[in-house]
Amino acid sequence: MNQTAPGSAMFPVSRPLPCRPGFRKSQAMIRSILIHPDPRLKKVCDPVAEITSDLHQLAADMLETMYDAPGIGLAAPQVGVMKRVLVMDCIKDGPAEPLVLLNPQVIWASEDLSIYEEGCLSVPDQYADVKRPAAVQVRWMDLEGADQERQFAGIWATCVQHEIDHLDGKLFIDYLGPLKRQMITRKMEKLKRERARAV
Ligand code: ZN
Repeated sequence: MNQTAPGSAMFPVSRPLPCRPGFRKSQAMIRSILIHPDPRLKKVCDPVAEITSDLHQLAADMLETMYDAPGIGLAAPQVGVMKRVLVMDCIKDGPAEPLVLLNPQVIWASEDLSIYEEGCLSVPDQYADVKRPAAVQVRWMDLEGADQERQFAGIWATCVQHEIDHLDGKLFIDYLGPLKRQMITRKMEKLKRERARAV
């Protein structure tokens, strides 16, 4: 998702990025982010079967790409890799907390719902309210192959659900009514035409 301002509104925030531990910046590369509509953003991704050096590289590149955007979450299909991998870091101030989730699954969701104004790096500059469970328990595999489980709440809960949706070919605009969705899709088609002409 896009970087968010404090509170629930999701507006890009520019701030100097603190030093990000846990990945080697010198070896990470910014990858280009697919813009909706793109058939790769509509596909269900394959589970990660084994942890390879390519996968470590992908995770480092995805974090670099997310922080550069800036965003708070990024899923592998957004950089054209059809694998169940996502990265996120919803810390706005203070030490960074980069997370890499392989094969993430929501194993519990609260009945309480919350509404956040969401954005998406694949749908630039478009924001809309989406209602989702306020807290979720998520299980995933880390880059060492260990199982991890954690309960997410607040913006982290919204972000992890938004990113897991990407792994199932779903975008936040799919929660909107057809007219709003079509309006955003047309804007994105126009943006892509403009960008193609600018190259
Ligand atoms: Zn997104």
